[in-house]
Amino acid sequence: MWVNEGYLKTVEETYGQGIVGYIHKPIPKINRKGNYIYSFAQGYVLSQSEPGFYCPVTLTMASAYLIDHYADQAIKEKYLPHLISTGETELYEGATFLTERQGGSDVGANEVKGIKENGEYRIYGEKYFGSNAGMCGVAMVLARIDGSGTGSKGLSLFLVPWRNENGQLNEISIRRLKDKLGVRAVPSAEVEFLGAKAYLIGREDQGFNYMMEALNLSRVCNAVASIGIMRRAYKEAKSYALQRNAFGSVLIDFPMIQDTLVQMRVKQEIETSAVFKMIETFDRVARYPESASERDKHLTRLLIAVLKKETAEQSIHFAHAIEMLGGNGYIEDFVTPRLLRDAQVLTVWEGTSNILGLEVVRLMSKFRAHELFFKEIEDELQYVTTLPEEVQLVSQSIKDTKELINSVLSMSYNEQTYYSKRISKRLADLYEGVHALTRTCESNRKRKVAEVIIRKTFCKDAYERKPLPLQYAEDILEVSIPSKAKG
Ligand SMILES: Cc1cc2nc3c(=O)[nH]c(=O)nc-3n(C[C@H](O)[C@H](O)[C@H](O)COP(=O)(O)OP(=O)(O)OC[C@H]3O[C@@H](n4cnc5c(N)ncnc54)[C@H](O)[C@@H]3O)c2cc1C
Repeated sequence: MWVNEGYLKTVEETYGQGIVGYIHKPIPKINRKGNYIYSFAQGYVLSQSEPGFYCPVTLTMASAYLIDHYADQAIKEKYLPHLISTGETELYEGATFLTERQGGSDVGANEVKGIKENGEYRIYGEKYFGSNAGMCGVAMVLARIDGSGTGSKGLSLFLVPWRNENGQLNEISIRRLKDKLGVRAVPSAEVEFLGAKAYLIGREDQGFNYMMEALNLSRVCNAVASIGIMRRAYKEAKSYALQRNAFGSVLIDFPMIQDTLVQMRVKQEIETSAVFKMIETFDRVARYPESASERDKHLTRLLIAVLKKETAEQSIHFAHAIEMLGGNGYIEDFVTPRLLRDAQVLTVWEGTSNILGLEVVRLMSKFRAHELFFKEIEDELQYVTTLPEEVQLVSQSIKDTKELINSVLSMSYNEQTYYSKRISKRLADLYEGVHALTRTCESNRKRKVAEVIIRKTFCKDAYERKPLPLQYAEDILEVSIPSKAKG
């Protein structure tokens, strides 16, 4: 695989900052291990300029996670230092290959085989979507060992080095690179395994469970990429509105422009803050799974599913900031077309919105995760001493959502799935609404942000004599607006 010098420099600089490495080893300057919060903060910045390149980083993170947690000592010593390299040794990027032609969402339909020959495993078959193929040093591959059962329970996890000791391809062939709508900073390919040498990771037939943990990590990355795109789209829209003149005014003077920007800003700010709040618990669960409580595990899984879906959908919505730039927004000289193309994949990979809806149903019916969720947000809400009307709106929605969930859980499984995305959306709104309220004591501006987002979310289309977004535009957008244009 050939890539240009600029790409190689990006690889070197990104991994050199420890975006993957310092989750697993000490940051030299402070001689202390980093964590996922440190990594995701970098991911948030990276995604604002190149969300496509955050994909290989994500895959490397997921591969390092799997090796660190489940590989035996010899494999770990041989490969982990390369995956977490910050420049001291050759970097191996990672890859995770699940999807096959007959099923991506339905991973249990996987047919790729892991066959033992002369005491070592060999992989045979085709993976249909392999991102980072050709660029990776190792791929983590789900395959079915001969004699294993059907469905997801019969899948095992393998580490497949891309090249053998002599630097030759490890019996792997790239059939073709996908010609994609976006995320062109990562190659995605159809990959054929023609007897590639592989190492079993962890226990036989446990591959699906291991991979689901890695997938949860990738879903958090997906949420981080989404909020990165949201931030970039908002920044582009705001900076254009501050410069462009129409009808004798700067765009920012117009009420509809102010409203659009205020709604973008409050959603982006609260969603980003809510994602990083979830990441604090995720960090504990992912780095210390043995000591994490069942509560933290189930609640985090629910929040990941809910926020992955919500942020991905919002990133596409935000990428329509194209409109705020008028005709220019549609032209490739500007970043907006790329943002729209890159955002579009975020609701597809790492689990589509429908599949996340199914995950929400599973977590509610199997682990009562919604009860943990309500306990968490109700505990937080009782300490909110500002904005009584907004607190009342959110409390009413909590009550309604509880009733909805109890009613839905008494239905047939198919009916539950029918309502799953609606429930997921309500949980996202509540999590963010309560989070917005918990910040109101920190500043007057944050109180205004909470007012706007809660009114928009929980009393849609309410008629206001003096619309809040116009009254608060200067504070929320942190700009100066001529007095004639204020609400
Ligand atoms: C650019 C790109 C890169 C990718 N990279 C990788 C990679 O590196 N590794 C990898 O393993 N995969 C990768 N994928 C594959 C991706 O994860 C899958 O495309 C995704 O999981 C969906 O699977 P599918 O394409 O088979 O769609 P399908 O599973 O066929 O889904 C089609 C539609 O049906 C819906 N659907 C399916 N089942 C249900 C159900 N039970 N209820 C309701 N709706 C349902 C889905 O939500 C979707 O809308 C990549 C995909 C893309 C686009």
